[in-house]
Amino acid sequence: MSTTTSDLNQTTSAELFRNAQQHIPGGVNSPVRAFRAVGGHPVFMQSAQGAWLTDVDGNRYIDFINSWGPMIMGHAPAVVLDAVQAALGNSLSFGAPTRREVEMAELIKKMVPSIEKVRLVNSGTEACMSAIRVARGYTGRDKIIKFEGCYHGHGDSFLISAGSGALTLGTPDSPGVTEGVARDTITVAYNDLAAVEAAIQANDGQVAALILEPVVGNMGLVEPVEGYLAGLRELCTRHGIVLIFDEVMTGFRLARGGAQELYGITPDMTTLGKIIGGGLPVGAYGGRRDIMDCVAPAGKVYQAGTLSGNPIATAAGIAQLTYLQDHPELYTELNRITTRLADGTRQIAAELGLNYTVNQVGSMFSVFFTDRPVHNLDDAKHSDTDAFGRYFRAMLHRGIYLAPAQYEALFVSTAITDELVDQYLQACRESMREAHNL
Ligand SMILES: *Cc1c(COP(=O)(O)O)cnc(C)c1O
Repeated sequence: MSTTTSDLNQTTSAELFRNAQQHIPGGVNSPVRAFRAVGGHPVFMQSAQGAWLTDVDGNRYIDFINSWGPMIMGHAPAVVLDAVQAALGNSLSFGAPTRREVEMAELIKKMVPSIEKVRLVNSGTEACMSAIRVARGYTGRDKIIKFEGCYHGHGDSFLISAGSGALTLGTPDSPGVTEGVARDTITVAYNDLAAVEAAIQANDGQVAALILEPVVGNMGLVEPVEGYLAGLRELCTRHGIVLIFDEVMTGFRLARGGAQELYGITPDMTTLGKIIGGGLPVGAYGGRRDIMDCVAPAGKVYQAGTLSGNPIATAAGIAQLTYLQDHPELYTELNRITTRLADGTRQIAAELGLNYTVNQVGSMFSVFFTDRPVHNLDDAKHSDTDAFGRYFRAMLHRGIYLAPAQYEALFVSTAITDELVDQYLQACRESMREAHNL
């Protein structure tokens, strides 16, 4: 049976989107869902199982977004659904401590040993906002250093040279962020150690924290160059700066212990999200005990949440993390499958005379429509985004659901089999041709 959807009927999606635009800004609850970077209208989803999404018109797609990362085990895995179902009968929320919050904290610490204490929140945004507040409280300093094209959620401090949807929409600096906040955010190009050192020197004794995605997913997938993370670690130690790894994407994905395990670098603080909730809204921030003990009520830095540590969310999170913890072989297999996808794509592009850059780390990869190696945002911006848009639509038409923007990573789940890789590669070959009139 052919699994491509050569004649997509998207009537219901189109209707829903028209209606949505009357009631929701831009018709979506998060900008990158709007398909503005690739043309057309977004597809409204109905259900999903394993590797497959089904939209409201009954079209099926192989999913390479996986809810932007959380669904690392594919959609609706029984272990997670069972845990949620078992938790449902005991109320959806208490606003009081529960046993699972302690279990979840212990599990996170075991998987990410640099975390000595951890606080649960409801999103990656909250985790990153809270982490820099704590770093400021701990150091008594105001400024933070971040990197062009890195995304740390939509907290004010981070919407300066931000990646992901902000970058795609051409508004990496958002209106509504005050000059005061902007002044306290120093941005530097990624993968340039000398630039960081210069920024630290120019703001001597004023930098509280340096926050980065240790492997960047939000300008497309960009790997740290050899020695970069170790260099940042050394600079932060020397200058008393809190090093924050934003592992909202990479945590529990690139390895059980995230990028910090993969590269062997220990940050002072880590922010987590996405996979940690198994698809439910969860984030976390944690790190060194002396830093985390600044958080109220242990310390004076205030941070709170009515639904934080929610019993259903922790049920899902514990189930998914426990499974990952108990199945280390799954990372080897994810890596093998993703290498097939990335190598195959690179080869297809090369055969067509397009020497496109395909970056891959573990189960994340990006196809940049440029022949320039991509080590930072400037490199990424050389991509032919019009050709990418045509490619995206051609792939969607063939039942392959990619991230609807050039500057995003693709996420592979354990539900992607060799047979599905073959289907992807066939669609990729046809779509590359179609996008370039070859
Ligand atoms: C997704 C993401 C965030 C924001 O998380 P939300 O749950 O969307 O608020 C922060 N940092 C990184 C690296 C992310 O990929």
